Amino acid sequence: MENITASEVAGFGVGALLLCATIAAPKVDFFIAASQRSSLGLCKRCGDLRMIACPRCKGAGLVRGGPAIFSIFDDINPFASGQAKVGSISCITCQGKGNMSCSECSKSP
Ligand SMILES: [Zn+2]
Ligand SMILES: [Zn+2]
Repeated sequence: MENITASEVAGFGVGALLLCATIAAPKVDFFIAASQRSSLGLCKRCGDLRMIACPRCKGAGLVRGGPAIFSIFDDINPFASGQAKVGSISCITCQGKGNMSCSECSKSP
């Protein structure tokens, strides 16, 4: 007997694909923003704000309690978004502040 159904296999495939897209997208954004900022003479990381938005919660100070994969469906499925907000927890990366001091700026005096 097969323990894994076809739909489960498809689910893993789609999940992995979406996960890759989620990981890649912010890096592309960051790269573009960094090149713009350096051409303006601003801090590459924060644009001279001396603070950066927390990469984990994207400045919200809250992260959803569920697996990260669900955040992908927020834009597509309003029901998933509504459910996910119920499970939001304080972000551990920024202690719920939503931002962190810029490591590039704190390096230089
Ligand atoms: Zn955070
Ligand atoms: Zn900076």
